[in-house]
Amino acid sequence: MTTLRTLRPTVGRILLTSKGRIATTSIAISPAFRLSTRTFTRQLSIKSLFASNSDNDAKLSSTQRILTPDNLFHPISESPVPEIRDRGTIIRKYGMCPVCNEEHHGHREQMRSPAYECPDCGHPTHCSEEHYQKGKDEHSKICHILREHNEDEHDLRSGRPMKEFEFPSAQGFDEAVNMANWDVFFYTRSFPSMDSDRSMRHVSKLLTYPITIASALHESSPHRKQVTAEGLRSLAAIRSILYPKVQLARDGVTLLRTETVNLYLLGARAESTLPPHIWSQLAYLFPQTPFHIHFVGPDALPPNREPYTTSLNDQLTFTYDNAMYHDYHEKVGSFDPYKDVYFLFAPGLGHPSSRESWKASIAKALDTKCAMFITGFDKHDVETDVKTVEEDHAEDFDWILRPTENHFKSLKRDINLQDLTQAIFANWGIWGIRGKRYEVTHNPEEDD
Ligand SMILES: [Zn+2]
Ligand SMILES: [Zn+2]
Repeated sequence: MTTLRTLRPTVGRILLTSKGRIATTSIAISPAFRLSTRTFTRQLSIKSLFASNSDNDAKLSSTQRILTPDNLFHPISESPVPEIRDRGTIIRKYGMCPVCNEEHHGHREQMRSPAYECPDCGHPTHCSEEHYQKGKDEHSKICHILREHNEDEHDLRSGRPMKEFEFPSAQGFDEAVNMANWDVFFYTRSFPSMDSDRSMRHVSKLLTYPITIASALHESSPHRKQVTAEGLRSLAAIRSILYPKVQLARDGVTLLRTETVNLYLLGARAESTLPPHIWSQLAYLFPQTPFHIHFVGPDALPPNREPYTTSLNDQLTFTYDNAMYHDYHEKVGSFDPYKDVYFLFAPGLGHPSSRESWKASIAKALDTKCAMFITGFDKHDVETDVKTVEEDHAEDFDWILRPTENHFKSLKRDINLQDLTQAIFANWGIWGIRGKRYEVTHNPEEDD
């Protein structure tokens, strides 16, 4: 069986229009490594989701309800949504029959493509009904997950008003946000219409990136038990910026801004394709602090796009750069543990094809002594990355956050179209490290 490693690059890519809104999402299928040039993408249009009212008027035809809530399941080949039918075509072309896989020990050239659609989940899961019957017990472990995915994807494109994507704006001063988990976060932040598991899945898939960052830095972080003494020092530094004394400008109304906090997102992929306004949900939690978010890495930009910087408002600035981080690092020049933090979303540090380049990048980041948080898509993924850092940077880092399950993982699974038996949660786990600080002490016994 192929490993879950192949899931890494399949994170859906959400491209931006020139207006900076969500335009399309696509499923990227690629071989197992981050520097791959063989990336098959499939555009899935969800234009209406984040369009303004005027845009909605203009696109009324595309936002009319086409599917009712009791009509969300369709065999993929017969889906009323062309993009979903195309998805089936990709699975039939690049996917595999798990029974053939077992019989031919992973030799793809000897396998037949999955042409038979399971009647329960609607996905082309096996090459034939015969192999479907043979592999049915094994398939039943994931069939309900694929069924849910089928209905979720149809719901997203059903044309119903997506009330759950109407996110709240700034928080009142006296309203405390509870960061214990998605439920209380949505409740205390007054998210509307978050009353079904399906809505939670849709929204958490987008918000897992900004809110995972927020939950690591927030003073009501759910990770208190896993934060180390070194971690408390790092967090105290950054929180001294994020939680200033409330100071008003001369007009007596406007909050004075703190210094800018830089968030360096290394190896950025799906997170760099989020519509900018999604990041406001991070900014609202720290209302006095401007953020500059740096999306850095070979997949941070679509091919042939030049690096650029843009602002959403006076609290959010974004830089997109497809340089490797160790090169970007040199351009930035100076770093400050009070104002700079790293986040790596499921980087796959240990993968053979990218390990060396990650090693150079992590070494630069550790040099700065700034906090670094890293996520993984399951326990094994986290453990592999931890082991890699322990092997490659043994003497150079301190723990700031012991590995733990992330309370703000995506609740919607990503499915590997090349192997439907693999389904993962983005940002399932989180951990954190920082460059070791060598205390300068003088030990007289070592003098002679
Ligand atoms: Zn087969
Ligand atoms: Zn099934």
